[in-house]
Amino acid sequence: MHGEASLLSSLGITAVWLPPAYKGSGGINDTGYAVYDLYDLGEFNQKGSIQTKYGTKDEYLNAISSLHKNNIQVYADIVLNHKFGADETEEVLAAKESFSNRNNSIEITNNIIPILAWTKYTFPGRGNKYSDFKWNWTHFHGVDWDDRNGINSIYKFYGKRWDENVDKENGNFDYLMGADIDLNNIDVVDELTSWGKWYVSFADLDGFRLDAVKHIRASFFVDWLRDVRDSTQKTLFAVGEYWNSNVDILKNYLKETNGTMSLFDSPLHYNFYDASISGGSYDMSKILDRTLVKDEPYKAVTFVDNHDTEPGQALSSWVQDWFKPLAYSIILLREGGIPCVFYGDYYSIPHEKIGSKKEILDKLLLVRKKFAYGIQHDYFDHPDIVGWTREGDLSHKNSGIAVLLSDFSDGCKTMYIGKHFSGKTFYDYMNNCQEKVIIDENGNGNFKVKSGSVSVWLEQL
Ligand code: CA
Repeated sequence: MHGEASLLSSLGITAVWLPPAYKGSGGINDTGYAVYDLYDLGEFNQKGSIQTKYGTKDEYLNAISSLHKNNIQVYADIVLNHKFGADETEEVLAAKESFSNRNNSIEITNNIIPILAWTKYTFPGRGNKYSDFKWNWTHFHGVDWDDRNGINSIYKFYGKRWDENVDKENGNFDYLMGADIDLNNIDVVDELTSWGKWYVSFADLDGFRLDAVKHIRASFFVDWLRDVRDSTQKTLFAVGEYWNSNVDILKNYLKETNGTMSLFDSPLHYNFYDASISGGSYDMSKILDRTLVKDEPYKAVTFVDNHDTEPGQALSSWVQDWFKPLAYSIILLREGGIPCVFYGDYYSIPHEKIGSKKEILDKLLLVRKKFAYGIQHDYFDHPDIVGWTREGDLSHKNSGIAVLLSDFSDGCKTMYIGKHFSGKTFYDYMNNCQEKVIIDENGNGNFKVKSGSVSVWLEQL
């Protein structure tokens, strides 16, 4: 890990989002999203092993320490919407609801049935270490499995209501999966807040990736983040996963959460995806339209793909290979947004036979780190060929870039890069165009691009 951390740091990576590090119900095979025990970071013999999919607690803490030694912050992925893999069942009265139409009406008595729910979490492998809190049905809203009859449905527990302030898909999208945590229960809120404080200091975290926030009442994380930040005296960067392609819904959530977190720019991802499957007929002048990075650049975490959008996943919407360099140039070389490079793009995804984009990404990361600075001029003015320039600044030697993308034909565009470059020669660092470009006396260059590619023009020294 130490060698890898030092490599990432040299590329200009300043923070790493690590996957959910606690024990999931699937033990060593669980990615961590099916949370069993938030306090088990690979320390207790639970769910068939001591270690999690990612290793033991000590290996986890060592990885974090290596990252810190290389000036890389660590963000933990936390899943507070649901739990999986309860230790015991218990009998609960519940109202059966359909998956597609969930309502919040008070149950009609004859709709109430006794079910056997997996909701007792006693953590026999951990005991009371770090916390003596034991979960039971009163700490949840509902489940999707009645173990008495073996029937899969949505069961809302008697006396419980879904949270109102959640995504409106399916009528009410509070329930996502597993045993849905009741985040209005004061004992639950206390336990999760004390866990958050413990986790930040135990693992020396610098921030969070908050999973599934659209299934959780918006005010929960406002209070939770405030309490954990106050108590740990850390800034704690936070980015929420609100999976929706409608930018208005994301902007509304940012308003409701009062600036406490950033959000992943899923609308931008879908623009990339659409462009990548349109075979050159996408209107590239609209590639940034209706995105978070355009409307709320300081709150947008931009990305091209992630572990949910890769092939084989429920939200699969994989940006096609040919478009990856174009998409990454947009998130890495422009001034807006906090870009996030996907592990699968950098290191490959062997089980999906997806190769590494390391060669291209190393180049773009280097351009970002050394040259992508200064005032930005946009040229999103053509259906095929769009681009921008950065004038460079005095604190980064030789900085200043011109970027031109084409989703269809070869072409060129005259763009202003600054009079201080008049008479200077620029070359395509991506090596797609062999011609050189000389900047005229007004600070303009006639930059070129080849079909379906990106050219990144730097000053020839
Ligand atoms: Ca929920």
